[in-house]
Amino acid sequence: MSVFDVRHQPRAQRIIQRALASGRLPHAYLFHGPDGVGKEMAAERLARILLCAQPRTIQKSERETEGLGGDVNPVRDACGECRDCVLVQAATHPDLHLVYRELHKHHPDSTVRNRVARDIGVDVIRHFVIDAVGVKPVRSQAKVFIIREADRITASAQNALLKSLEEPPEGTFLILLASALDRLLPTTKSRCQPVPFGPLSTEFVAERLAALVPDLAPEQCSLYAALAQGSLGTAVRFAEDQLDTYNERITDALGDLVSAAPVAVAKGWLEDAKTLGARFRERDPGISDTEAQRRGLKTLFALVGAWFKDALRMAVGEGGAVTSAGSVERLASLNIAPADAGWGIRAVVEAERDLDRNASTQLAVEALVIRLSRIVRAK
Ligand SMILES: [Zn+2]
Repeated sequence: MSVFDVRHQPRAQRIIQRALASGRLPHAYLFHGPDGVGKEMAAERLARILLCAQPRTIQKSERETEGLGGDVNPVRDACGECRDCVLVQAATHPDLHLVYRELHKHHPDSTVRNRVARDIGVDVIRHFVIDAVGVKPVRSQAKVFIIREADRITASAQNALLKSLEEPPEGTFLILLASALDRLLPTTKSRCQPVPFGPLSTEFVAERLAALVPDLAPEQCSLYAALAQGSLGTAVRFAEDQLDTYNERITDALGDLVSAAPVAVAKGWLEDAKTLGARFRERDPGISDTEAQRRGLKTLFALVGAWFKDALRMAVGEGGAVTSAGSVERLASLNIAPADAGWGIRAVVEAERDLDRNASTQLAVEALVIRLSRIVRAK
């Protein structure tokens, strides 16, 4: 396994390959792009190359026969077999430092340990990065720090980190992973080599999801992939949260909207958003109840949007509902005009925008349901 296994990210691959081939690898990288598209995988693969005891050289011809492509020749790769490679793969290599928000729980100071970690604070950065950077590697020639959610490092912690990013000791590499570049200070960004990662194709996400979660039905895979917007990580979370059960309720409610009372429908969605939000909070205890419900609601809105996109596809004769095979007949019987489907999609986008502006969740849902029931009843 090498950095070249991170497929479908050709730009990122090219930048890393070129640096490896030149033998002058930057000491600080900033892998940026949506969550769940392979940034962390690429960082781990790169760490393996840097920490491997017997790195090998691969000629371009060899890579081509293996179907790996790439335009750089020759490149360094991890052997995949030595003790260092095995340890990196198991995430237990002493010279691979994984830094993440919840790491504060391992901080020697109890006041830091007892904090709620909404972001990565200066105590964590100081103890687990800055101090650790100054210590010699334990096993390898090199030392690698992978910082998850680097965009959640506080401004003061970023300032404290600047010197380590600028001139770390020989053989020390820092890889920052971030999805929201605008939350990083310009001084942080300017000290790192940026490596862009883009969204994955829906087909690839569906294919990988089926391999990762073997008991999913093909319809579930295509639903989650379609909703995940090119992020395999998001698609996996949708599968864990069994989003299809929520989707069933949403599609039922939309089908009934012709006769149902909007306030009752809105109430049901708010309850579902709460349940879904609780799942988000289990994964990310740093977020508030309100934020959890808001995120739950955004996910439900995405399902509503997908339903109207299906309605639009049917209205223009493209067929093939993505959201639910069972809703095809229902959609057909509702006979929504293309323009009305377009209005539905627009209403969802505006409701999402309201949520982003921190509008009241209840008002946002009620306003959306009222607009949608008008659209469905328009005929
Ligand atoms: Zn090795």
